[in-house]
Amino acid sequence: MIECIFTIDYEIYGNGDGSLEELVFAPADKLNSLFRQAGCKFVAFIEAAELELIQDQGSDPAIGLISEQIKSFHNEGIEIGLHLHPQWYKARHENGQWRLDYSEYNLCTLPRERIAEIVDRSISYLRRVLGQPDFTPLSFRAGNWLMQPTHVAAGVLAERGIKLDSSVFKGGLQHRHGLDYRKAIGNGYYWTFSDHVDMPDANGTLLEIPTYTEMVPFWKMLTMKRVGMKGAGNDKGKGLSSHSLSSARLERLIDFLRFRYPLKLDYCRMTIDELTKMMGAIVREDRKAPGRYRPIVAIGHTKDLVDYETIRSFLAYLQENGIRVSTFKDVYDKCKT
Ligand SMILES: [Zn+2]
Repeated sequence: MIECIFTIDYEIYGNGDGSLEELVFAPADKLNSLFRQAGCKFVAFIEAAELELIQDQGSDPAIGLISEQIKSFHNEGIEIGLHLHPQWYKARHENGQWRLDYSEYNLCTLPRERIAEIVDRSISYLRRVLGQPDFTPLSFRAGNWLMQPTHVAAGVLAERGIKLDSSVFKGGLQHRHGLDYRKAIGNGYYWTFSDHVDMPDANGTLLEIPTYTEMVPFWKMLTMKRVGMKGAGNDKGKGLSSHSLSSARLERLIDFLRFRYPLKLDYCRMTIDELTKMMGAIVREDRKAPGRYRPIVAIGHTKDLVDYETIRSFLAYLQENGIRVSTFKDVYDKCKT
């Protein structure tokens, strides 16, 4: 059985340039009406750090709308997940521009006390916005997908009651940040883990449901739609000096010069043909072995939401093929049993 979980990273990714109204509020609102029409729900991964800092600094007049939107999503049954770019917490807003602290780019490499402080602060922010002092998100996605080294951060998240991670994308590799999800290629559709997010551990407390990827020849990554969206959902390089910028580019190039590359199931960046082809392969697999449970996570970013027609068609395709659209809350128990 296949179920599809649509996740949206709710943020201005990158260096913080741009308007919340245009890059977060309006696209998320449209996405929500589209899902409402289709009778489905999605998971909103709220980037707590940047939103709190924008609110504190009063740097964007739409921050009030953002808080209201998050609250109304929650009231409608849209799942609120935690997404975190820790480089925001020590950010400064100077002359109309954000200066982020890249020494805190990867949550997982920070000392335990700092990780705990950051996670607590982010959950407190969500609680305030939702007006629900006991709110705990079920799901987590690390900024720039960095969930390695896993052990300490996973422990802190589990202690706070977070139960599920969706940071992995199988086959992922970023030399600069020490991210290597190539080992996970051999894993199933989901697994529990403890010390290594990419290694199944039957006694692990956290459940991993990775963003679905397919390994493709690198030239397949270069479609017009993806090339048109520069900055591709990550923000490596932004805010760095020109020297480290060129080395960042070089390292990205090395990551890219692989024979096969993980193409994420991204409903903002893929064309309808690519989406249905990727899903079609899973449907064929499922027909051969229907007893196996297959939760499939799709990813999108509010900033990339432009082509709503493709999303509408993809939702219709899923419906025609009897594939349920779910949230992590719906699928969690099925994965645990
Ligand atoms: Zn992000």
